[in-house]
This record gives sequence, C-alpha cells and structure tokens, in this order.
Amino acid sequence: MIALVTGANRGIGREVCRQLAGLGHTVLLTARSEQAAAAAADELGPSVHPLTLDVTSPEDAARVAAEIGERFGRLDVLVNNAAITYDTWQRAITADLDVVREAVETNLYGPWRLIQALLPLLRAGEHPRIVNVSSAAASLSMMGAGTPAYSVSKAALNALTRMCAAELRGEGVLVNAVCPGWVATDMGGPGGRPVAEGAAGVVWAATLPDDGPTGGFFRDGQPVPW
Ligand code: NAP
Repeated sequence: MIALVTGANRGIGREVCRQLAGLGHTVLLTARSEQAAAAAADELGPSVHPLTLDVTSPEDAARVAAEIGERFGRLDVLVNNAAITYDTWQRAITADLDVVREAVETNLYGPWRLIQALLPLLRAGEHPRIVNVSSAAASLSMMGAGTPAYSVSKAALNALTRMCAAELRGEGVLVNAVCPGWVATDMGGPGGRPVAEGAAGVVWAATLPDDGPTGGFFRDGQPVPW
C-alpha cells in the first residue's frame, strides 16, 4: 500500500507515517519544508519517502500528483493531516476574518485541492482511502463559543468528507473524518494523550477493509456525533 500524509514533519502526521511504515506500507511523508520532510523521512526508514508539499499551493499539488504518477502509478491512501490556527484567542463575534480565511485555506481548501489532484491516482489504487483529520471542535452538535477559525474550517472539512464519501461510494473509495482526540503536540500543547494514541485512530481509518465504513466521523475507531 502507498500512503501520502500531509503536514508529516512533526506531530500526529509524522507518527501516522511511522505507524504506517511499521505496518509495512510505503509512505510518502510530505511537508512544506523540503529539509523538514527529508529529515523526518530519514529518521523513519527506507520505506518512507519525502516530498515537498504546501497544501495551500495548487502548483505543489499538481507537481506531487505528477511525481507519484511517474514513480508509483497509483496511490492507496491520502491522509489530510496538515492544519493550522487553533485560535483559542478569538471569538466568532469579533474574529479577524483574515485569520479565518487563512485557516480555511489550509484546513479546508488544502484537503479539497489534494482530493481533486490525487483522485486519478487513488482511483488506480487497489484499496483507496481518504482520511480527513478533523477535530471534536468540528462537531455541530457540541459546538460552543470560541476557536472560530479552527471550528468553522473543520466543520466544513466534515461536510466535504460527507460529500466526497457519497460521490465516491460507488467506486469503493472510503472517505472518513477522524478526530485524534486531544494530543500532546505543538498544536495540542502539554497534557494531551500521547501522539501514538492520537495517530492510531487515523491509521485505523487509513487501513479499513473494503467493507469498512465511509462518510463517517470517528475517534479511536468509534463513531462520534457530527
Ligand atoms: P502540529 O503539531 O501543529 O503539526 C501541524 C503540521 O501541519 C506541521 O507538520 C505543519 O508543518 C503542517 N502544516 C501547516 N500548514 C501547512 C501547509 N500549508 N502545508 C503543509 N503542511 C502544513 O499539529 P498536530 O497536533 O499534529 O495536528 C495534526 C492534525 O490533527 C491537524 O489536522 C489538527 O487539526 C488535528 N487535531 C489535533 C489535535 C491535538 O490535540 N493536537 C486535536 C484535534 C485535531 P510546519 O512544521 O511546516 O508548520
């Protein structure tokens, strides 16, 4: 299996790469910094290949799709992990909309762009899976005050997950949203669960059997409310 993970030079993305490689899969570890991608891939071993990919760049998406097509001819798993702006300092009623726009560019349009760019390669894969790394902050049924840029971008990512799952259901492409829980990364800060535990739920969705769920929202392999 060949899996691509975005934002994988640190945090949950890097750990997802480590776990997928440990399961014997070929991993395309992508990061917006070429050096950071190379350093992280180097540490994880020979089945992990670095690629430079800024998810906000249409040119990067096209270049990466072309490179994967030439080298592998297919892709089995896309993990949309990269995200920014857990804006605990903001409230919706006064939020800086430039900050919101920037978050949506990375957290929504990034995954959307990559799904579109990589879909031909995923269609050529044997067991295509798309995992959108979401958050409890995306849950409309639990939505409260605060983190407006982050919450709106992740709620929209969940909506995108539902649409893509429905549109690809007939083709066997499983598309799910996964909340990793509160994880002790740079974004999550200290006190969260170990990164290996957060990443495991993402790996679960990346390696679902062909009769596995699609269009769902999960944490630790269990459904969570939209
Ligand atoms: P993190 O430690 O802040 O890492 C974020 C990663 O995204 C970094 O590798 C970063 O790269 C990358 N990134 C940011 N903008 C990018 C861009 N334009 N193109 C490519 N990569 C980009 O975050 P994390 O905690 O591992 O979070 C991973 C995922 O889990 C995110 O989707 C996050 O929303 C979700 N999540 C996390 C928690 C938590 O408690 N940590 C909870 C719920 C959901 P640079 O090093 O270049 O900045």
